[in-house]
Amino acid sequence: MKILVVNAGSSSLKYQLFDMDTGDVLAKGLCERIGIDGAITHKRPGKENYKSEAPLKDHKAAIELVLSLLCDPDLGVISSADEIGAVGHRVAHGGEKLRQSSVIGEKELEYLESIVEINPLHGPPAISGIKACQSVMPNVKHVGVFDTSYYSTMEEKAYIYPIPYELYEKYKIRRYGFHGTSHRYVCQKVMDILGNKDAKVITCHLGNGSSITASVGGRAVDTSMGFTPQEGVPMGTRSGSLDPTVVTYIMKKEGLNPEEMEKLLNSKSGLLGVSGVSSDCRDVMIAEGEGSKRSALAMEILVHYIKKIIGSYVAEMNGLDALVFTAGIGENDGVVRELICKDLSYLGVEIDSEVNLGAKRGTQTEITKAGAKVRTFAIPTDEEYMIALDTYALSK
Ligand code: AMP
Repeated sequence: MKILVVNAGSSSLKYQLFDMDTGDVLAKGLCERIGIDGAITHKRPGKENYKSEAPLKDHKAAIELVLSLLCDPDLGVISSADEIGAVGHRVAHGGEKLRQSSVIGEKELEYLESIVEINPLHGPPAISGIKACQSVMPNVKHVGVFDTSYYSTMEEKAYIYPIPYELYEKYKIRRYGFHGTSHRYVCQKVMDILGNKDAKVITCHLGNGSSITASVGGRAVDTSMGFTPQEGVPMGTRSGSLDPTVVTYIMKKEGLNPEEMEKLLNSKSGLLGVSGVSSDCRDVMIAEGEGSKRSALAMEILVHYIKKIIGSYVAEMNGLDALVFTAGIGENDGVVRELICKDLSYLGVEIDSEVNLGAKRGTQTEITKAGAKVRTFAIPTDEEYMIALDTYALSK
């Protein structure tokens, strides 16, 4: 069966077509500037990329263009859209009700619409992407795979915030957690490697957005992102966790309204806010090398917060079998991995510096030092494949 995986953003639509018999990606690409002017990049392994600029009015126009390219005699990889057996949709937020990957019908769409208030950035484009794909491909199943659903196993003590309980009841303010599909993917990979179905694993998804998750036996017990992806470790432009009073104090002092304050915390903080240079870890490290003290501080803060969360999760799980790094920074940046793992020997984490720094970028590498109690890995994430697997399982 062939599965199309779709990830719709506000002005973009990413896609990958999988052949589930082989696990191969047949084609993938990105529609950009939807609703503005429109552009597409279409890739097929081993072949030249195709790029074009074409007006894309909305997500429906984008998915129509994707299907026409997938079926194109020269640029395509299938002869007809009927070859697509099902469509998997990446959905950031499944709320409290969509606790596992699900076929999306009217009831599910209604529920997704009802939680837009707590997911204002990612909810509307995801819904629009699903509706567009359903209208263009009405005869196949459309499956939603939710970033939050991996966290449905967390206990109340991990997801209820210590604020008046009525606010949880009234507004569903709680920890949801994000990047769940990525954490689930790398956690499963490492459990397969360890051959331990009860393994205690900490997965560090460190990219432009970053989150850390503790899992026991493949079930999440805690995670650093919370009600929104704003909580946890500092990120490219997001602050991560703060004393809540910092927020109200800044609002009063700077005369900011809630939206302006959210913008400050979401888009002007983190690596960018501290370094004043860039949200991109590579740029910040280059600036540090050139003598920027604030860039050095930004990197120190990043590493400091990550270490604190790793330590707290080991305490929560009363042990650790494996530590995993994934996403842009986690997969590629041996220096950051080294800094995080330095002085974690008390927890049993010790890495082989040479193997770590020599690890080929973006490849699965075990970086454990010989004799260390905890095994440490860099594992490339593959959220799209995970979405395809869930979709396949619900479509057979
Ligand atoms: P992501 O959000 O997963 O795409 O990750 C983006 C982050 O990964 C940025 O901070 C990049 O600086 C970082 N990153 C991506 N590639 C590399 C690389 N080859 N070496 C170091 N950092 C990288």
